Amino acid sequence: MTQINSNYQKLQAGYLFPEIGRRVRAFQQENPQADMIRLGIGDVVLPLAPAIVSAMKSAVDEMGTLEGFHGYGPEQGYDFLIQAIIENDYISRGIELKNTEVFVSDGSKCDSGNIQEIFDIQNKIAVTDPVYPVYVDTNVMAGRTGSYLKSGHYQGITYLAANQHNRFCPEPPQEKLDIVYLCSPNNPTGATMTREALKKWVDYAKQNECIILFDAAYEAFISDPDLPHSIYEIEGAKEVAIEFRSFSKTAGFTGIRCAYTVVPEALKGKNSSGEPTSINALWSRRHSTKFNGVSYPVQKAALACYSLEGKKQISQNIQYYMDNAKTIRDGLTEIGIEVFGGDNAPYIWLKTPQETKSWNFFDQLLQQTHIVGTPGSGFGPSGEGYFRLSAFGLKEKVHEAIERIQQKLKI
Ligand SMILES: *Cc1c(COP(=O)(O)O)cnc(C)c1O
Repeated sequence: MTQINSNYQKLQAGYLFPEIGRRVRAFQQENPQADMIRLGIGDVVLPLAPAIVSAMKSAVDEMGTLEGFHGYGPEQGYDFLIQAIIENDYISRGIELKNTEVFVSDGSKCDSGNIQEIFDIQNKIAVTDPVYPVYVDTNVMAGRTGSYLKSGHYQGITYLAANQHNRFCPEPPQEKLDIVYLCSPNNPTGATMTREALKKWVDYAKQNECIILFDAAYEAFISDPDLPHSIYEIEGAKEVAIEFRSFSKTAGFTGIRCAYTVVPEALKGKNSSGEPTSINALWSRRHSTKFNGVSYPVQKAALACYSLEGKKQISQNIQYYMDNAKTIRDGLTEIGIEVFGGDNAPYIWLKTPQETKSWNFFDQLLQQTHIVGTPGSGFGPSGEGYFRLSAFGLKEKVHEAIERIQQKLKI
């Protein structure tokens, strides 16, 4: 029989969301009348902005004509989109990029998961704890870790605890790392790194010749003008960082699929002879070998996010979610629940009352209020005692959820 990739045997087979699903189904079977409100999964709910719909429709119409038909496009993305990305997301913040430094893709989940394969298996990697599980699991699959330990960690990965003491933004450790995953604004904690905190990491990476994989999927939710949107706002970051961005949460593209990754030409690793080697060239090679580009209508839809109308409509949607976040934050604070995040990120990270275990709080919230959230411990051991609520819901539902929590949750 064919041997499987035994690294897959180490995976904690998608425990979190299947387990939530199992508990919710069991509850619904016993309580078929219960009106459930789901603030668990991080998916958007508002429809696409009209500017995006109309751009996508006309691109599809174009494709139905001889002159407007598009077959395979450039694997890295069409120049029209790359140019718009650079102008709107980078030049506007004082960052210059070349077209060849931006790679358009079908998602940041895929990019942040795939990126590790261009790096050697021996590299020492670090993640924050709690963590977006993709960073960890893709390294497990690649064989960069040992087995799963009782502590809730994988052997061979450095976990940087994010907790109240460090405001959920861990500082660089003493030890020397080769690759660090950072996510800001953070999923799941909703914490956003300040310029100073990010600078410490960039300086660390320079001193230790380490590469930072910076996930900025939620940058559009930042409203505080002092917070950095891109790691390249920090001097010297182009020599040490790769940045992931996505249209998923920014513009409701979770079902349409479009994202991009920035790999600066100044970023170097070393090859087996110890010579400095371009990471950009490696990623370009991987991308064009294993990926065949995002569809033309989708790239046109992404382009529409940068039109005047598009920008306005998208920011209204973001404001809608951030109003929800405020409703949740204020509502919980009123009844004495300690909350974090939710000010520059669409996630509220709450401390469970009386240090209830995350899964117990999940059950309690489900039974007493019929609301589904996400247990913090599902994102890593340091998430124990915390709970994530998402602001991605309809306003009326979010208000109702908070009323129910205020009236029915026994704390
Ligand atoms: C939602 C999310 C993404 C975006 O993933 P896509 O594949 O682009 O939809 C990336 N990183 C984090 C942490 C996320 O929560």
